Amino acid sequence: MTANSNIRNPKSEIRNRTKSEIRNPKSEIEVAHKLGYASPADLILHLPLRYEDETRITPLRDARLGDTVQIEGVVEHSEIQNRPRRQLVVQVVDAASDNARLVFRLLHFYPSQVALLKPGTRVRLMGEVRPGFFGAEMVHPQFRVVRETTPLPDTLTPIYPAVAALSQYAIRRAVESALSEADLGDPLPIPAGFPSFAEALHSLHHPSPDARQEALESHDTPAWRRLKFDELLAQQLSLRLAARQRLALRALPLPDDGGLQERLLAALPFAMTAAQQRALREIRDDLARPHPMNRLLQGDVGSGKTLVAALAILPALAAGTQAAVMAPTEILAEQLFLKFQEWLQPLGIEVAWLAAALKGKAKKAAIAGIADGSVRVAVGTHALFQNDVSFHNLALVVVDEQHRFGVAQRLALRAKGAQVASGESRVASTPIDSPLATRDLQPHLLMMSATPIPRSLAMSYYADLDVSVIDELPPGRTPIATRTINANRRDEVIARLREYCLSGAQAYWVCPLVEESDKLQLRAAEESHAELVALLPELNIGLVHGRMKSEAKAAVMSAFKAGELHLLVATTVIEVGVDVANAALMVIEHAERYGLAQLHQLRGRVGRGARESSCVLLYETPLSDTARQRLKIIHDHNDGFAIARADLQLRGPGEFLGARQSGQQLLRFADPLADNDLLEQARDAAADLLEQHPQGVQRHLVRWLPRGLDLFRV
Ligand code: ADP
Ligand code: MG
Repeated sequence: MTANSNIRNPKSEIRNRTKSEIRNPKSEIEVAHKLGYASPADLILHLPLRYEDETRITPLRDARLGDTVQIEGVVEHSEIQNRPRRQLVVQVVDAASDNARLVFRLLHFYPSQVALLKPGTRVRLMGEVRPGFFGAEMVHPQFRVVRETTPLPDTLTPIYPAVAALSQYAIRRAVESALSEADLGDPLPIPAGFPSFAEALHSLHHPSPDARQEALESHDTPAWRRLKFDELLAQQLSLRLAARQRLALRALPLPDDGGLQERLLAALPFAMTAAQQRALREIRDDLARPHPMNRLLQGDVGSGKTLVAALAILPALAAGTQAAVMAPTEILAEQLFLKFQEWLQPLGIEVAWLAAALKGKAKKAAIAGIADGSVRVAVGTHALFQNDVSFHNLALVVVDEQHRFGVAQRLALRAKGAQVASGESRVASTPIDSPLATRDLQPHLLMMSATPIPRSLAMSYYADLDVSVIDELPPGRTPIATRTINANRRDEVIARLREYCLSGAQAYWVCPLVEESDKLQLRAAEESHAELVALLPELNIGLVHGRMKSEAKAAVMSAFKAGELHLLVATTVIEVGVDVANAALMVIEHAERYGLAQLHQLRGRVGRGARESSCVLLYETPLSDTARQRLKIIHDHNDGFAIARADLQLRGPGEFLGARQSGQQLLRFADPLADNDLLEQARDAAADLLEQHPQGVQRHLVRWLPRGLDLFRV
């Protein structure tokens, strides 16, 4: 293929160019950067949005009003008119078509164009034919000056995704030049049934005129499938490479719990579910190996992940090493801390709590205990991984609600974990007297999430993660009845709430989410609280929100837990982890503002005891379509996996996974859901290719993942 066969004579190509571009054409580097690429070579994968057919000329007399066509004619007359506004009006005649005439108008034009469009000049115009005062006309057609002998392009003209201040002309030129300079060979064997990379690119940048434009535009041609396959293959290859790198890393094997597990379980009033046991076994198998574990524990809200985590760290404790348990919010960290303390202290294990809010002596003591190893388990927020904290011999890190950490935070955590384990962050004066020097050892990593990721997504984005699933809730849970109620019936809801609380049960009142500002959200919470206190004088009503001091927060939470409060008015700080079995009613104000995962998490705060539980979703009208769909989904489903699937369909994978917040798109062309067959095929191919074509693999990765490789590892 001759990649540049389509380059037009730049001198005649003046349409669509901005004034400054005519003076100094943009360099390929400039174009690439403007479009968000690191180098001009990346432009080969800047693929057209759609195409225009300039391969044919329609005789003017055959052009029907409303059609978008290309016609050719000679300028007969041109003049600048000032009424109704300044414009260049040009009349052309098509001699080959019974001297049919057409007028075209340019509302923006340059002196150079006026000079060019003088009588006798032959032009090709592409645009929509409209009825005008003098017959057929085109307003702002694309035009170019030609000679009678100027050949027509033999392929469709690509229209590329553009950004402001970049013309199609500039993009086309840069893409052409990238195509002609790049090595378009296939570094890996061409998968059966697909075109070569060069053929695929050629047919996308320059499709033949008989190509099915619809199929092209809906990305459903062999060429498109080839590129999607290549992209997915690059992803699978890099995930496998990351997994391989992890196998090359070393971790302290933690094979034995020294009888701690038996003792902990004996003290519990319940037995583990079969699903908890299975997940724990998978984790324990990983821990016994001399490589760092990288496992995600998925389980619906209330499925009992905390207990599994507590049991999972026992082998680290038995080995004399430390474990760190991290949660995204202070309130959740605190709940975890209390649970861990309840379970581990009877075994003689020291648990410490660390969060940003911890100050003074208490903080110093926690940090000192972590550094000298007397604290065996540290529970906290990301304050655990600040610079002033250094672990004595950290062997295992647990991250709860990992999906709430952004991609960037997860990367930082990973880096910090490695640094901690290799001793880099240890303060020099700390004595390293443990027989288990953790230098050069990575900690094992266990992540937990209640937002389940469907298999195809997990495979595509998390292939370097092993996944355990708790697919069963502890026995005795009553399903939560969910009701959606128009906020104009708020009074009725409050009356019911009153009766309910006076009967001895407890309830949550969740205040509206105010995304724009913490302060506004706080005000909304305070207002709701004041209103409920006024309306329900016979109830004890507490308030908890994110801006409270942690002692104040803890005091309210423990009063609620102890049954001293009937009603807890709260912001989303209670979204995760809060566990009060007697609270069986939740009212969520402005439920339409919440996302599905958040609603599911919130609702998961009730239904934790034997009491019949319900959740009331108050919504304000009018509802947007998406909000209506979300409310219906949450109303119809109690199962977090079903909700996640519906959520994914509603939002698409990028947003669902929180990739958007990282500002990077993970996949440009392929969609792991829609292109699941290609994903499976790419995954199957990846293992063999790594074995048989290691160098080809490198070249493939450079082509597809010039940067951002790290994103695939978190
Ligand atoms: P999540 O998976 O949402 O983090 P938790 O770990 O907070 O759920 O567990 C929810 C509640 O269920 C807690 O009160 C916990 O003690 C309890 N629980 C955990 N495992 C079991 C079990 N096997 N049987 C009964 N209750 C359990
Ligand atoms: Mg939890």
